[in-house]
Amino acid sequence: MITTRHRFLLFAAVTLLLAWVNPSATAADGPKKLLVVTTTVGFPHSSIPTAEKVLTQMGDKSGVFTVEIVRSGPRPRDKEQATAWMDKMTKDLAEKMNPEALKKYDGFIFANTTGVLPLPDKQAFLAAIRSGKAFVGMHSASDTFHGEKGTVDPYIEMLGGEFLTHGAQAGVECLLRDPNHPATLKKDFGESFCIEQEEIYLMKNYDSSKVHELLVLDKHPNKKTEKGHFPVAWCKEYGAGKVFYTSLGHREDVWENARYQKHILGGIKWALGMEPGDAKPQTK
Ligand SMILES: [Zn+2]
Repeated sequence: MITTRHRFLLFAAVTLLLAWVNPSATAADGPKKLLVVTTTVGFPHSSIPTAEKVLTQMGDKSGVFTVEIVRSGPRPRDKEQATAWMDKMTKDLAEKMNPEALKKYDGFIFANTTGVLPLPDKQAFLAAIRSGKAFVGMHSASDTFHGEKGTVDPYIEMLGGEFLTHGAQAGVECLLRDPNHPATLKKDFGESFCIEQEEIYLMKNYDSSKVHELLVLDKHPNKKTEKGHFPVAWCKEYGAGKVFYTSLGHREDVWENARYQKHILGGIKWALGMEPGDAKPQTK
């Protein structure tokens, strides 16, 4: 006679067998682990707490990822306090981003970081991305690790572009360069992604033949009569890793914008290899 207990034992045995046959099944099916870095040596954006909240809730709600956050807060004015602040930043980054600690993350999000961050081992960090992890950068992630004058920092090479300057905040129409990419799906955006007000970056050390463009402007954000080609968001491969960058994300209300959230969630999923999307440059 088959009792409930027998059925339970059989069920337990099959579960154990499946776990033994495919030990990575549970790890691969669970949410991905992302390290969110909001540390700022330079300008501290007031939108950082909003960015941290949005990313945490996005991970929870979507079930796609969980976040750990490493943050610094703004630099204190007092000299002694500023020294202690810098020491704590260095210690926090050493703890979360040493070569061994990097292994436990599936990817990294630099949300409005600025300046030369005291990473414990930047080469190991870049190597970790090249090994097949995700890198996602928002807004001033491109205002981070500026190279010495006349040189391009390896971090900027990984990212694909570097912040040059910005004018006054403006309303812009970002044109979709790839309506099939998860970060810029036509069904979410239509023909373009219009933003009422945002600080729009102009980039340097950007080469459209090295990235897959996602959002661009066809006119200068502040001088609307000046036609041109101004990159706003792109993705690229970096070794076996995937990189997604959007220069949007200065303002709190941009982070709260439902379409912006679709844009970055699509980019995160793509960078994690969970959704397909082209990374080939459109121009040669
Ligand atoms: Zn900004």
